[in-house]
Amino acid sequence: MFTSTIPISSEGGHTSFQNNVPDPVASGAELPTFKFALEKSQGRVDGGSYGKEATVSQLPISKAIAGVSMRMEPGVMRELHWHATAAEWAYVTEGRVRTTVIDPQGCSETNDFEPGDVWYFPRGHGHVIETLGNSPCHFILVFDNGYFSEFGTFSISDWIGHAPKELLAKNFGLPASTFDKFPKQEVYFARGRIPPDVPAPPLQGWRPPPLTHKYRLLSQRPFDTFSGGLEWRVDGSQFAISTTMTGVVLEMEPGALRELHWHPNAAEWQYILSGTFNVTLFGSKGRWRQETLEQGDVGYIPQGFGHSIENVGKEKARILIVFNSGHYQTIDLSQWIAGNPTDILATNFGQDPAVFEKFPRNDVFLVK
Ligand code: MN
Ligand code: MN
Repeated sequence: MFTSTIPISSEGGHTSFQNNVPDPVASGAELPTFKFALEKSQGRVDGGSYGKEATVSQLPISKAIAGVSMRMEPGVMRELHWHATAAEWAYVTEGRVRTTVIDPQGCSETNDFEPGDVWYFPRGHGHVIETLGNSPCHFILVFDNGYFSEFGTFSISDWIGHAPKELLAKNFGLPASTFDKFPKQEVYFARGRIPPDVPAPPLQGWRPPPLTHKYRLLSQRPFDTFSGGLEWRVDGSQFAISTTMTGVVLEMEPGALRELHWHPNAAEWQYILSGTFNVTLFGSKGRWRQETLEQGDVGYIPQGFGHSIENVGKEKARILIVFNSGHYQTIDLSQWIAGNPTDILATNFGQDPAVFEKFPRNDVFLVK
């Protein structure tokens, strides 16, 4: 009901889409805020475990991507659930985590994760997340739909707790009394023993899927290195199952700048892992805005909007960036200028052509 894109016709076996009206959030006289202090928000707290979310409710501009910061204590499990309207991409920041996920072919995969590791669950695939060991874990979840809420997931206890016992008895071929003591409400964070070091086989035995759900992002050599820092990147070309999302970790030296650029095919969701960054946003019609993001803050760049990211702190700092496409695309301002001859540039800016002899001849990407 809030989306600006509606189906207008269905011909030839596919649906066409057209922008009905400009997105009211992103087309006003001024750009709205594109920052949300995620870690400073309250979220859903249960003892020392919590989930804090950034959806369109907290950050109205973030229509295409939502995110969650989740911490779980030892022995805590985010119960079996699925997401009806979003795929889930995750980055582990602390502790150890185990996931088990089922796919429509009946294959399930169990994986253990450490800081710097990534998982991806296609939309609607059921999964569970467990804390491993005696220390808490923390991870960032990113969803390819800004209207998705982590507190509106389809949880197994909620479903079974609300289905009649007779229906469940028939479904499983068991006495109805089997379900007498099952929870009546959604459990969300389940508590129990610390999981075994080696995962036990599923009831059906091991039946692994053709594509893994795990990618060890920070254990890889950086995707690219610059005098101003490092870039780790994972899209569908390295991590085949991740067809709708791409993740990047940028490590930037003090003063380093991820240059002015835009992404033709994706919105960008940012989470500050460490340090302080100035992020700028350009939205046509002279609209320009800058926000300062600190550790634990979230930023959002609508698809196709111009932006830049600068480490304004005194230390090396890291930012997690996630896109809602499995194909990474960028057009950097330096590259665009380098892709034009001096006469075009001189006329465009009303300058002497000699001015453009000094401009970079190739993509800058990350400036020291
Ligand atoms: Mn989930
Ligand atoms: Mn970007």
